[in-house]
Amino acid sequence: MTFNDLKLSAPLLKAVSEAGYETPSPIQASAIPPVLEGRDLMGCAQTGTGKTAAFSLPSLDRLGHAKGGQGPLMLVVTPTRELAQQIDAACTQLAKASNRRMLTVMGGTKYKGQIAKLDRGIDVLVATPGRLYDLMERGVVKLGDVEVLVLDEADRMLDMGFWPTMKKVVAATPSSRQTLLFSATLDRKVMQSVSSILKDPAFVE
Ligand code: AMP
Repeated sequence: MTFNDLKLSAPLLKAVSEAGYETPSPIQASAIPPVLEGRDLMGCAQTGTGKTAAFSLPSLDRLGHAKGGQGPLMLVVTPTRELAQQIDAACTQLAKASNRRMLTVMGGTKYKGQIAKLDRGIDVLVATPGRLYDLMERGVVKLGDVEVLVLDEADRMLDMGFWPTMKKVVAATPSSRQTLLFSATLDRKVMQSVSSILKDPAFVE
């Protein structure tokens, strides 16, 4: 299997090749087709498997473009600052290639520039739960335009006590959204918490 077999758009294929990716990783090969079809996804994958591109590539190919003040259209929530920074690094190039405005917000960073960018309209927002909820309470982030919601490392979000916040975040997004959820483990506790968020998900490992 090559990236060309995955029916991605030309700008993203070019970005993939510029990033030096030669063949899709297993999670990319199995996740990209159902996500391109618009299906929800439950992915059992750890960091380091290429899961950032697995959710970013097909989502960016389906996403609309935010007008001034609109967005985010794609929201990626991840439990830690380190993970947010990693996703930012892997996704920035892809977002640029598909002409999308992207912003990453996390605790301990300045609000000013973030608020200005959100006011101008944002396509992709990557966030840690605390800062995201903080910006929602300030009325700076509204989630009514979200088309794709990505919940990264769901098991760690549960372990770190973020689930009550996550439920509020999910509730603020439209029920018509596409939801992509990743977790390193899919035990009973995780499945019970997340199953109500997903609609007929494709399972990938
Ligand atoms: P992730 O699991 O998304 O954090 O990705 C781990 C690392 O693998 C990142 O540095 C990516 O740039 C890299 N990567 C992702 N997909 C591929 C691929 N198909 N071929 C080679 N490297 C990749």
